[in-house]
Amino acid sequence: RAARSSGDNVRVYLPTMGQIFLRRFQLVTQFRQALETGQVKVHYQPKVALPSRQVLGVEALVRWRHPEFGKLDPDEFVPAVEAAGLIDALTGFVMDQSLIRVRKWLDRGLRISAAVNLSVRSLDDAAFPDRVAGALQRHGVPPELLTLELTESGVMADPQRALPVLRRLHALGVVLAVDDFGTGYSSLAYLRQLPVDEVKIDKSFVLGMGTDLGDHAVVRSIVELGHSLGLTVVAEGVEEDVARDQLAAMGCDVAQGYLISRPLSESRLEAWLQARTMQAKGLRDETVLTLLS
Ligand code: C2E
Ligand code: MG
Ligand code: MG
Ligand code: MG
Repeated sequence: RAARSSGDNVRVYLPTMGQIFLRRFQLVTQFRQALETGQVKVHYQPKVALPSRQVLGVEALVRWRHPEFGKLDPDEFVPAVEAAGLIDALTGFVMDQSLIRVRKWLDRGLRISAAVNLSVRSLDDAAFPDRVAGALQRHGVPPELLTLELTESGVMADPQRALPVLRRLHALGVVLAVDDFGTGYSSLAYLRQLPVDEVKIDKSFVLGMGTDLGDHAVVRSIVELGHSLGLTVVAEGVEEDVARDQLAAMGCDVAQGYLISRPLSESRLEAWLQARTMQAKGLRDETVLTLLS
């Protein structure tokens, strides 16, 4: 209820520091069990080639359905999990789930890659590349079908420190991507010193590019510089036809966003992929709907 001048108190309810701390503490102590009991799930968001719209891969995005707090987005719990030293358990879980999917697709003759988000903390861990190699081997997935995404702010905070592990990951043959590019104030030319293959333009610029000339210019320059450095350029946050068409006209290689699909549960992703495959084979929509129902 809006405050009136008649002396009503305006009450703003904000969680106290104690409540925030308590919730964080609960999340961290419950996390391992949540992984084991199926509360934590991986959703997948498709990435498509421009302009062909062929499905190239999916990005794995973690979700937690908490019994008390409800659906939690990664921004709410990943930082706490990182700070508590539990990031290996999360990354391992997401990588295993993703590689199981990629293997299943391969068995059906589909080459679709999976992208897993890493914490920059894993770049401090000399044993991390061996664990990635082990996971690829265990699941029988060729390295080029795994992409590892690191945020620009994470890698660029201390590139020299990240370099040894990045080099070993790159030597495995996995694809390395710099995520949320454009938000970290680093120059794209500096990326040349790192063994990365892909740059993902941050969604804040892509969301604005249809209406904001500045955002449009930033996106264009990342596409051009990215290509001049031999990188694959991906746009995240593609919500509108206009953005997709502008990106295609600029030569951006890959698009990801709500326009193509939201992140989907495993079963919904399978249905989505099946519908796409049917369309690609030129079947009429009615046929696809019948097959899906
Ligand atoms: P990100 O890697 O940059 O992932 C893209 C985020 O943008 C996702 O948010 C996705 O749902 C959202 N998004 C995708 N398309 C659109 C669009 O068209 N419009 C808008 N407005 N948003 C879109 P989400 O799933 O909440 O993930 C947030 C961040 O959490 C991720 O950003 C990533 O940095 C982190 N994260 C997610 N899963 C993991 C994980 O397994 N491990 C780690 N370490 N971090 C993760
Ligand atoms: Mg990402
Ligand atoms: Mg991003
Ligand atoms: Mg992000």
